[in-house]
Parts: sequence; structure tokens; C-alpha cells
Amino acid sequence: MPTAQIKNAEPSNVITPAKIDWQMDDTGNMVPVSGEFEDVYFSHADGLAESRHVFLAHNQLPERLANLAPKQCFTIAELGFGTGLNLLATWQLWRQLRETHPQLATAKLHFITTEKFPIPLADLTQILALWGQRAPELTEIIELFLSAYPPLIAGCHRLHFFNDNLTVDIWLGDAAISLAKLALDTSTKPAPYIDAWFLDGFAPSCNSTLWAENIFAQIQRLSRSKTTAATYSCAGIVKRALQNCGFEIKKVKGFGRKREMLTAVMADKVYSNDSDSSSTLSSAHNHIVVIGAGVSGLLTAWSLANRGIIVTLLDKSAPLAGASGNPRALLAPKMTPIHHVDEHLHTIGYLYSSRLYRKLNDKAAKQNTAPVLELTGALDLLIKANIGTEQILDYPDDMATTLSLAQAKETTGLKDQDLSENLYLPQSGLVNPQALKNIILTHPLIHFQQLEVSSINEMESHVCIEGSNHEKGTMTISADNVVICAAYESHQLDKRIFDCRKIRGQLSWFIPSAAQWAKLPKLPLKYGGYCTSFSGQAGDSKLNEVVEGEQYLLLGASFVRNDTDTDIRNEEHQISREKLVTAIPEMESVIPTDTSLWQGRAGIRTQTPDYHPMVGQLVGSKRIWTMSAMGAKGYALAPICAETLVDMMLGSFAPLSAAMLARLSPNRTRLQTPLN
Ligand code: SAM
Repeated sequence: MPTAQIKNAEPSNVITPAKIDWQMDDTGNMVPVSGEFEDVYFSHADGLAESRHVFLAHNQLPERLANLAPKQCFTIAELGFGTGLNLLATWQLWRQLRETHPQLATAKLHFITTEKFPIPLADLTQILALWGQRAPELTEIIELFLSAYPPLIAGCHRLHFFNDNLTVDIWLGDAAISLAKLALDTSTKPAPYIDAWFLDGFAPSCNSTLWAENIFAQIQRLSRSKTTAATYSCAGIVKRALQNCGFEIKKVKGFGRKREMLTAVMADKVYSNDSDSSSTLSSAHNHIVVIGAGVSGLLTAWSLANRGIIVTLLDKSAPLAGASGNPRALLAPKMTPIHHVDEHLHTIGYLYSSRLYRKLNDKAAKQNTAPVLELTGALDLLIKANIGTEQILDYPDDMATTLSLAQAKETTGLKDQDLSENLYLPQSGLVNPQALKNIILTHPLIHFQQLEVSSINEMESHVCIEGSNHEKGTMTISADNVVICAAYESHQLDKRIFDCRKIRGQLSWFIPSAAQWAKLPKLPLKYGGYCTSFSGQAGDSKLNEVVEGEQYLLLGASFVRNDTDTDIRNEEHQISREKLVTAIPEMESVIPTDTSLWQGRAGIRTQTPDYHPMVGQLVGSKRIWTMSAMGAKGYALAPICAETLVDMMLGSFAPLSAAMLARLSPNRTRLQTPLN
């Protein structure tokens, strides 16, 4: 096998997509070949059977998965995602087992995979079409997978397949770097670990990086007693490396004509990460109370309930009664130069939210309710942005691109504006908070209860939450854990939570005349402020004065520090108008100066001095957690932060790096000094 020299002048966190070549194999079939490594991804004749033999059977997955307890999570890590064939084979096995083993209804499969040279979607679609033809049992999951395939950007992309209780984390970038980012928080029990490894790099002779010392150091760090590993390779360096990590290795019959392969199991008591805890959900997580039913609380409840946990969601008034209850939220990221993207919470959160909301759209369609995300795309005029057109070029077009002047004029409908520099975001859109709330609150494990919480008392075995309810008077609720998602009021509930900056923000909307409509921008625009049209949907009136079927123009938003009043102010309508007409002067004659008929909603944004949210367990506590301080970005940040928090609570691997978790800690150094 030729040894390919990898030339990658890019920094390690900038992704080079795989270059796919096609070659005829010795059975006369065309197979995909890696342009970087000049090796085949799989054998056409029996790639799927080989995957089942090497990785599934020799990690004993059929037996181990079948024997999972209710709510137990099994974690697989793969080196070299390639075409995803191993994932598909595992997924299909998991589906089969779930059909025949009723106790698996609440068990979870977490598949973590790494890939440095991800295959572009068009190539992957072509490659997987082969398997769709040869193995019709894979057709449906191939389609599901392709529709969730992320843009090729460094970092972790979490994909959910809710109906299969399957979560897939694709870490794009060098495997050694990605594995090093997986947080092993041993302070909260149980600490996460990998149950089974799929070591599927190209042959060590042509791809040494996936078999290097730093990789095995990570394998050792992330394993514990009884963790298994399997690989088709029997190379000496692989055997020795696995043994040095504490694995007992065994040579077994390889697939087909291959003489041998390796299977390995981490010996008992070798590794210090061992604890009596297994990944079975402990009784400490049967019932969790979430305080605050804004976007943070709703998403936390959603992530918990999807792990089989009963959630009581509390709010002093009603779901979305506070700052998250706007008629629409524009989901559009604050961008960063691509070299920082893998550690940029806004980008990670935006991509995850966009994917999640689109998934929830399917649920909304089934319930015949309004979509959670209307995928409109958005155009940023780059008036107040920290990225220019040069840097936008570094991004894949399906994430961010610049429209030509003609396209920008056509798409916006603007006549006089200088649109030569712009940022087009195809995955942006309008979130409908009411629609999101509907889906979340229909989850059978989430129960909403109005309660104004007055005290939280942590005991050895549980937490007691006391408060008053409009109808029932004083109430006490007992839970295994509590998550405080009460925005700026979180500090009142537990003084260990930082007393954040409070920023009032008012959003404005009105019904333009037909003549005005003709001149208004045709898609959401960002320019420091933002504007978008939207049409009233069924349910909107539950949160705001919005009439179903009516067309509105929405303008945002004011920022007033240290003001916690939520009255609607004419001068703040004017501020939002001013922002728009200053950025787009041709709107001066279109947007009325008389704003007396405008509607609005004011909410209080909560912000830390370093602008990062707070996500994690409170210092000195075992059962009290917080997720708050989303600033004005709740709909982009809350979904990924909620997944992260729940992973920390349950001892699973989070979709954010260990460094990011430290940055989000509610106990970080920056939050030790109060605001002055
Ligand atoms: N498991 C794959 C499947 O089911 O199709 C096949 C994997 S293929 C044999 C090996 C993969 O490892 C390739 O996709 C290659 O790009 C990837 N790879 C090579 N070096 C890597 C590195 N340092 N970090 C992450 N992935 C790497």
C-alpha cells in the first residue's frame, strides 16, 4: 500500500473535505477511494458484512446492547467516520434489537465519531446510494442520516435521531485533538466513559496518525474496566499500543479471506477512572425540577425528558412569559473567523439549533401546528459584524456565503443600498417560540406547574422546592435535582449564581400597508439591528397581540442597561426605526414615523461580564444546577447548552470541549467579582 504524504497547510481546526476518487475493485465494482490516503473506504462486495463482523460482533454489541437496562446509555467511539458505514450497521442493529427487546425502549445509544477529512454531502450521497441498493434495510436510515449531515466545519456536530434513541456526535478535525476535547468530569458522578471503540483508520502503513501514541493515550483516558476495542488491523504497533493502555488483546479470525483481526478488553482494575457507577441512570435522576419556563428552562426540560427523566417545569407566571416570549426570534449567528469556529459557542449553538428546530418541524407537521423554524435564510449587511467577505469565503457555502450584487438586490428587493459586501446565511430563519413551547410541553414526561418559588433546600437525598401557586397556595415539591433557569432572577433563588447585568430590550412590530410592503426587504436583514416580515400563525395570540394570517414587519431591538421595567415605550419603537433607516436610508420613506399603532414586547436580557452563559453545577452543591444568562441569544444558545448540562448531570460526553465547559462554569473566576 503506498504511503501517502498528507499536505495540509491549513491550521488543524480548518477542515479539508475528502477528495473522493472511484476505482474498480477486484470484483469489478466501483468503490470510493480516499484521495488523501489512496486507500479504499470499504470493499464493495462485503464492506457491510465486514463492518458487522469486525466492529459489531467483536465488540459483542448484539449481546451488550440487548442487555442494556432501561434508561441506560451505551457509548461507542469511532476513529475514522469515513462513509459512515459502521454507524449505519450499528444503527440498524440497534433498531432490530429495540424491536425485539421492550426494555430498550428507554435505553440510549451514543455514537461518537471523529473525522479529519469529511466526505462532502454530494459524494456521500452517491456512496451511500450503493448501500441503499445492496442493503435495503439501510435505506431509511441512510436518508435520515443524510438529511442531518452537518456542514463541514471543525468541532462537534450533535445529531439526534429521536425515534431511535440515538445521538451521534461527529467531531470534525484531527481525532487526537477531538478526543482530547472530550470532558471527563470526575467531580460529578457517574463520570462518562467509552463502552466500545471502533478503531477504523486506514492501514497504519498509510495513515499513522490514527494509530499514534497520542491517540492511544486518549483511548486509555476515556476507557474503563470492560471497555472493549476492535480493529481489523493486527499490526504490531496496534497490538503493543493497546496492551500498553491496559487492554487484554486477542487475535481472532478476520473477515472473509483475512486471516486475523484484533479484539481487546480493558482489564479489571487497571484504570483509575473506574467507579462503581455504571452508565445506568442512577435513582438520583428520576425526577428533576426546572425553575423558569423561558427558552433555557424549556430546552433543559426537553433534553432531560428525552433521556427518560420526569421533569416538573415551574414558572412564577407562565411558559414564555418573560424575555423569550417574542412573536419571532431571528436565528442568525454572530460569525467568527473560521480558525476559531470549533470553539465558538455562537456558531456551534446556531448550527445545532437550526438542525434541532428543523427536526421539531417534522413533529409540528404531524401535529398540524405551526413550524418551529421557518427557514427563510438571512442577509447580514456587515454593518456591525466581526467578519468580512474575505473571511466568509473560508466557510462552506451551505453555512455562509456572499451573494453577488445582482443576487443580493434580487433577494432583498432593495434598490439603492450598497450590497456589494454581504453575508448570506442559508440556514437562518425565524423561530416561533410559541410553536417550540407547544412541542416541548406535549412531551409526556414534562409537566408544567405554575409556582413562584421562594426557597430551595438541598438535603442529602433530595431537594425541596417551596413556593406559592395562584390557586393552591403554598406548595412544596421534592426532586432529585433542580436546575435554575430563571434568568436574572436566578441570583435571588441561589446567591451562588452570579448577579448578572440586566438589559431591557424592546421588540416592535406593525402591519405595513400594501404600498409599504412593496418596498420592504424580502428577507430577514441584520444591520446592527434586524428586521423581518412574518405572518401570524395559530397560537401566536397566546403570547402576543398577533393575529393569525396577518402580515407584520418586526424590528429589533433596544438595549437599555439596568432597567427591569417591561412597559412598551414609544421612544424605543423610534430607536429600532432609527437603526433601520440609518443602515438602509431608502427605508426612511417607507417606515412610518408615527409609531402610535405599533405593538411591542419588552423583556430583560441577562448577561455575564464575559458574555458567556452559565451552565453547570453550583459550587458546593450536589443537586443544584443552573443554566442562564443567554443574553439576547437564547434561541441559538439554549439548545446546545441544555444538551451539555444534561450530559454533565447524567455522566455522558458533552458536545462541547472541556475548555468550553470551563468557560461556561457558573463558578468560573470571572464570576467571583460582583458587578459594580
Ligand atoms: N469507518 C469508516 C466507514 O465506515 O466508512 C471508514 C473509515 S476509513 C478506513 C478511515 C477514515 O479515517 C478516513 O475517512 C480518514 O479520512 C479518517 N482519518 C484519517 N486520519 C485521521 C485523523 N488524524 N483524524 C481523524 N480522522 C482521520
